[in-house]
Amino acid sequence: MNEPALTPLQDRTLQALRRSEMPVLIDPAEIAELIEEFTRGFEAIVAAVPEDQKFFLNKHLLTRILGCEVAAVAPEEFQWAVPIALGQISHRAIQLGINWPGEPAPITLVDEAIARVSEEDSSLGDWVAGLSPADRADLRGMATERVTKFIESFPPLDPRSHPMTESKVYWPTDGPITLSGKVDLVIGKPSGHESRKLIVDLKSGRPRPNHRDDLRFYALLETLRAKVPPRKTASFYLDAGDTDAEDVTIGILRSASRRTLDGLGALVEVSTGLRPAQTKVSHACKWCPLREQCADGTAFIESLEEEY
Ligand code: SF4
Repeated sequence: MNEPALTPLQDRTLQALRRSEMPVLIDPAEIAELIEEFTRGFEAIVAAVPEDQKFFLNKHLLTRILGCEVAAVAPEEFQWAVPIALGQISHRAIQLGINWPGEPAPITLVDEAIARVSEEDSSLGDWVAGLSPADRADLRGMATERVTKFIESFPPLDPRSHPMTESKVYWPTDGPITLSGKVDLVIGKPSGHESRKLIVDLKSGRPRPNHRDDLRFYALLETLRAKVPPRKTASFYLDAGDTDAEDVTIGILRSASRRTLDGLGALVEVSTGLRPAQTKVSHACKWCPLREQCADGTAFIESLEEEY
């Protein structure tokens, strides 16, 4: 049977993400050196962690601690909400679609994803099971839009290319500090030392400078875990149907390594009382829950208001 022809958008995505004929092989000796250097820096930070404390660093916290430290370490209570659960439900639906026979409608995949998640013994499962009809309809509608845009934009994913959604990665296996990530979409796997893995973050909004940093953190994490870097990372902007892809190089991994150690060091220092957390004003002050008690943030917001 003939494969269906790709739409222009699917073809553009394929061209942006496909493997070139030249194998991507980053010198294994340079990778080993990078891992050794990172591990040395990491262990120096671990040594400063008191016995009763544990730290988990993901891409969000890394970006936040390198921004305003005060806001990053302020206690906050996590609560599920439709925009937060949207990613997991739609990625689960996409995963179901990869192995679903025929061409299922996005809403069928989303309904199945919601049904399966609501049966799981997890905080998300409990939250989904208890949704009001209005919130359930909202989640269903938003997830269906996201899955539809994904199917329109991506060439059909071949199960032989090992596609995975919501793929969890963490490093190291034990100790008081864990670096963790959950990758929206992973395609491919290494062959020996050849980098073949593609890491994709699916984005609903507009491009932001930290999106590349997030993916570089994932590339570093994958390198620490698998000892072979991914070949490419990409943010895929679902609303625009556009890809921002970057080839992974040793230079990018080194820069991700320095950024991660800087952020981790800052997190441990301010959380263990080795030094006070510093404020750093930015446009994020406008939405910061601490802004009313924060003199720096208040002054910054007032200065913005005077400009307009
Ligand atoms: S208002 Fe701004 S400077 Fe103050 S804590 Fe919040 S983000 Fe930091």
